[in-house]
Amino acid sequence: MSTCNPSDPTTGVIGLMEHMKHEQVVHCYDAKTGLRALIAIHSTILGPALGGTRMWMYAHEQEALQDVLRLSEGMTYKASVAGLDLGGGKAVIIGDSRRDKSPDLMRKYGEFVERLNGHYITAEDVGTTKADMAYIGECTRHVTGRPENEGGSGDPSPVTAYGVYRGMKAAAMKAWDTPDLGGRTVVVQGAGNVGRYLTGHLLSEGARVRVCDVFADQIERIRAEFPQVQVISPESIYQDEADIYAPCALGATLNDHTIPELRCRVVAGGANNQLADVALHAQMLTERGIVYAPDFLINSGGLINVYSEIKGYTREEAIERTTAIYDQTLRILELADELGVTTHEAAVRTALTRIDSKVELATA
Ligand code: NAD
Repeated sequence: MSTCNPSDPTTGVIGLMEHMKHEQVVHCYDAKTGLRALIAIHSTILGPALGGTRMWMYAHEQEALQDVLRLSEGMTYKASVAGLDLGGGKAVIIGDSRRDKSPDLMRKYGEFVERLNGHYITAEDVGTTKADMAYIGECTRHVTGRPENEGGSGDPSPVTAYGVYRGMKAAAMKAWDTPDLGGRTVVVQGAGNVGRYLTGHLLSEGARVRVCDVFADQIERIRAEFPQVQVISPESIYQDEADIYAPCALGATLNDHTIPELRCRVVAGGANNQLADVALHAQMLTERGIVYAPDFLINSGGLINVYSEIKGYTREEAIERTTAIYDQTLRILELADELGVTTHEAAVRTALTRIDSKVELATA
């Protein structure tokens, strides 16, 4: 039985692992390259723990630890609900990817991944690219999302965005009895890889898109590709009147402050860990009558795509599996109603059912 209190500031790493049921957390440091990284393996019950490596300017180590623990737990549910034979893991490199990254830092990080002997397999995430995966791949086989010309599956973001688009259509079906996004207004938070590809799908279907980003060059890039998008400030996004809010930046944007401000009917986006407090904030969304498409349920396209490198299936098969996110999302949104629970809870229960039956089989 857990004896740990996660809100006690004296709770250490193992206490947090006990609370969130993690298997392993690895701290990595290299003086020469300045590498400071954490790798968290949440579960290997369904298979090796696959999850991306994020590089971000965390204010302090505790913030990075919280992020990697939450992200890796989310990967366990994501893989399970997508029907993949993968566990959940994630890594964070502490630093500014625009300033602190170097090929040697990535190679050194690859050496740490190699030491885990395949229990953790990495991929790209915020602040890392397929070029970084190639550097990591010089030091370990346990990396996915390397460039296509090196035998990898390339950038997973287009497939992630396609899955988010499919999940958003299912949420629209639940909210308005039609999956058609034509004429709907969608605010996209984060004009990065996922946000940009998602915008392309939305515009093709005739939706109106408003975007924001904290970096001017990201806004310039999306405006160059899609001149019809409207730009709004990052601060005003929550109060913006729209049909759909699509979080495609960082996590915890659904919280005590933002949920009361929202003026949309649907939340469906690509960012991981959108709910600051999963139970509380999923409930707040339900009470406000907002249809929330759980993040790990609809953003699994990229994982499905990189999994093809392990399983050896084609890009077409990855797209086919990603297309099915629509049906799976609709099923889970309906299940939430049937069980009288939040959509997040319904998705977690679906994920845990598969994991628990694997444990039962193993112990039978
Ligand atoms: P990215 O780094 O390309 O884009 C993220 C963008 O968000 C950046 O342009 C950044 O400047 C912007 N941003 C950060 N904070 C912001 C804020 N407060 N307001 C507005 N914009 C802000 O990353 P990405 O690959 O597009 O991933 C986006 C999200 O989707 C992340 O949470 C990531 O973990 C998640 N995700 C990505 C994939 C994938 O395949 N890339 C897969 C699953 C989940």
